[in-house]
Amino acid sequence: MKCFVCGEEMSPFMEKFFGLKHLDACRYVRCSGCGLVVAETLYDMPREDWELLNRECHAYQHTDALAIDPRWLDRLHAQADVLARLAKVGVLEESARAVDFGAGDGKLSDYLAEKISAPPLMKFDAYMGDENFLPPEEMSPASFDFVITCSVFEHLLGAADVEKIFALLTADGTMALHTLVCEEIPRDPNWFYLQPVHATLWTNAAMKKIFRRYGFKACAYHVDARLWLMMRSLEKFSRLKNLAGFVVAEDFVDYWKGKPYR
Ligand SMILES: [Zn+2]
Repeated sequence: MKCFVCGEEMSPFMEKFFGLKHLDACRYVRCSGCGLVVAETLYDMPREDWELLNRECHAYQHTDALAIDPRWLDRLHAQADVLARLAKVGVLEESARAVDFGAGDGKLSDYLAEKISAPPLMKFDAYMGDENFLPPEEMSPASFDFVITCSVFEHLLGAADVEKIFALLTADGTMALHTLVCEEIPRDPNWFYLQPVHATLWTNAAMKKIFRRYGFKACAYHVDARLWLMMRSLEKFSRLKNLAGFVVAEDFVDYWKGKPYR
């Protein structure tokens, strides 16, 4: 299989046994160009089986979310703090149309609403949600000034999924992104990040290509919130680049260079 990010050949990397009803052995392949690793077994799975696997993992993940990621709620609060600061300096404008894509139970938006009244961070989730969530028909291309995705990119299954998210942004829109991006994916079946529904494992080189492909001009990484901001407007970038807590560059910020990766 070819890498969907850079087009180079992908070769066998490792295998992990999950022993789940819908996922026993999972094969991973690695790109010789950008180092992206994908779970080939998940990519090859019929979409119905993928949905069943997600359902099988859902209860487990919900009860174990804090065990897998003890900083989960602290980080959500830190992310809400970052968004409130962005609103204060005019990066996230009051009139902005902003959405949390893959919002889960919507906590991030709720935390932000305790800090600022506008703009509201709307919620969208393809699998969860209630009447307060945006319906799928609202998710049209170029209709959001600001999109945040937390723990979504590791679940994507290739170019079409990535495209769907970036397409939501306006021409000078900002993408906020929380996922794990590291210099090199460890060849270790016991690595904590190898979860049954983590289909795409991102490297700095792969994310840098995506950053450039989608026309971003500047990037800021907030270390405590584990949050990247990919920006198309250099004018907006100038409003945040001197704020404390951010590492900035006019290219993707490849922050995580050495192990351990969090
Ligand atoms: Zn690649």
